[in-house]
Amino acid sequence: MNSKWYVPTQVFMEDDCILKNAKYISELGTRACIVSGTKSARENGALQDVTQALSHYNIPYVIFDRVMANPTVSCVYEGAEFAKKNRTDFIIGIGGGSPMDAAKAIALLAVKEIPEDELFLTNPGNLALPAVMIPTTAGTGSEVTANSILTSEKLQTKKSISAPILFPKLALLDAKYMKSLPMSVTINTALDALSHAIEGMLSVRATDMTNLIAVDSIRRISHCLRYLSPVVEQNLSADIREGLLYASMLAGMVIAHTGTTAVHSMGYSLTYFKNIDHGRANALILPSFLRFTAKSDPELIMKILLPMGMKSVDEFEALFLRLTGEHESITDKEVERFASIAITARNISNSRIIPSKNDVYQMYGRSLRIIEI
Ligand code: NAP
Ligand code: FE
Repeated sequence: MNSKWYVPTQVFMEDDCILKNAKYISELGTRACIVSGTKSARENGALQDVTQALSHYNIPYVIFDRVMANPTVSCVYEGAEFAKKNRTDFIIGIGGGSPMDAAKAIALLAVKEIPEDELFLTNPGNLALPAVMIPTTAGTGSEVTANSILTSEKLQTKKSISAPILFPKLALLDAKYMKSLPMSVTINTALDALSHAIEGMLSVRATDMTNLIAVDSIRRISHCLRYLSPVVEQNLSADIREGLLYASMLAGMVIAHTGTTAVHSMGYSLTYFKNIDHGRANALILPSFLRFTAKSDPELIMKILLPMGMKSVDEFEALFLRLTGEHESITDKEVERFASIAITARNISNSRIIPSKNDVYQMYGRSLRIIEI
């Protein structure tokens, strides 16, 4: 038996979570820098609840609301300057994975000078501003991970800063903010969360404990997936929204220990070069990666399919096809280029069955529509 567990984030999930747990926010500092995307935090009420909680404890705050999807390295340096200039001593990230990941990097860069070309190379050390995360999508689990995934224009891909100091001190989960989430974002983020739980089981770092949590997360997400349809914009019940948020947090706890695998390495180029949303990029690749792994380790794949009530990768692929609709096209040249990039990514070697460059090439071909130009 070889097991370890470390998620030092205090997690609360309940109705009106921010206001009910405002005390815990107030204990983290005296001047807050709120980090969010441009619009949704204002529209879904999360920002209003945070500012009300801070005002209750007379804590002044500033708002950096310039985080874009797949945040860039320059965005987080700008955010860190803003946090420093305003002499803030703690960070509150509100939003999907993009603002939460940006908030973590800002918490680090606000106290530590790291030259841009060393950002993904240096060990970040053990100093960062304390951070609170308030997820408003149910997908990345970033509220309980020590990763900040950023888009590097220089390296032309997404890269991750990972260090225990990046674990948020506090995560406040309230599914009411997700009522406004469009169905496309709900599906993409749910499939990202499912991918995390599954990749956790396909990782060389999987343990009995991470598998236990991953299986529970997979079961919960696959139950919720029945209610999602890309063609009907229906109102989801509070139970389904909560189920997705909780399961996505569980999947975050899984990847906090196991990391992700070849699926995420292959997804990065689809996001960087073809502007395919992060969750969707993983969802396009995942069925092919299951099929690839099933050739060498069918028992492991059955452990993933059983909690989904499935018996074959074909069934899994059919579910994903229903949720992802028509897949994007890709040229041979792109496949070649993306395979060369994916094969050098750190997380590919985290896979139990490591694909060769040719395997990666084949999986891209199977996952997208290859076109001649
Ligand atoms: P996102 O990029 O954070 O947000 C996607 C879109 O959804 C944005 O337009 C955002 O608007 C909107 N949105 C967010 N919450 C909303 C709500 N409650 N109602 C309506 N619209 C809402 O998407 P994401 O999929 O959550 O995050 C993806 C990022 O997370 C990627 O960069 C990925 O690499 C990273 N990630 C990190 C980890 C980790 O462990 N740290 C794991 C997986 C993925 P606004 O911009 O206006 O807010
Ligand atoms: Fe992800």
